[in-house]
Amino acid sequence: MTRILIAEDESRIVSFLEKGLRSSGYSTVAVDSGPDAIALARDESFDLMILDLGLPGLDGHEVLEAVRRRGEKLPVIVLTARDGVDDTVRGLEEGADDYMTKPFRFEELLARIRLRLRDTTNPETTVVQAGSVTLDLRSRRASVGDRVVELTAREFALLETFIRHRDQVLTREQLLSHVWGYDFDPGSNVVDVYVRYLRRKLGGGVIETVRGMGYRLHTSPDRPHAVNPGR
Ligand code: CA
Repeated sequence: MTRILIAEDESRIVSFLEKGLRSSGYSTVAVDSGPDAIALARDESFDLMILDLGLPGLDGHEVLEAVRRRGEKLPVIVLTARDGVDDTVRGLEEGADDYMTKPFRFEELLARIRLRLRDTTNPETTVVQAGSVTLDLRSRRASVGDRVVELTAREFALLETFIRHRDQVLTREQLLSHVWGYDFDPGSNVVDVYVRYLRRKLGGGVIETVRGMGYRLHTSPDRPHAVNPGR
């Protein structure tokens, strides 16, 4: 199983990351200080590190420097809450592979993680499919059967989330955190609104309402499967 080290001191973000990564099939370990991050990055069983720049003890820059000085190739995705590009540029110069500016959407981070892991561990999944719905992740094209459907970026991300969790009922809260990010108001009805948009474009039966729980992608009678499954 792919193991991801999370170095982040804000517990809300740690729990957001852990929930999302575990439900996407990764195993995670979280630390909340620079020295702990350096110590654990030494453990070669990790496949990738998510590194917050604003860490206590030693900050993310110092962690990155220490890790790279040891010659470790561990892919690092930096999280930065800071304005301006200076920190980002410095992070990349110090050997970060990519960065995300907070607040971020989980699906976007996941895409970057997959990109970084692709070379070493994963054949890339470029097409995901469930029932009659197919998404090409590279060209960002969606289709139902033979019919190509035009989706906005947000609709595409929502549909991708449904396909990746095709056997699960997804709550509004899960969908919010996956597609809209942790800063979104949990009382918002934006999920319902976007499910409505998707139903209008895909056809009514594609997304089922599970009363009192949430939504689920309708995949029968075809057996759901991923083309070229990764991970
Ligand atoms: Ca922080």
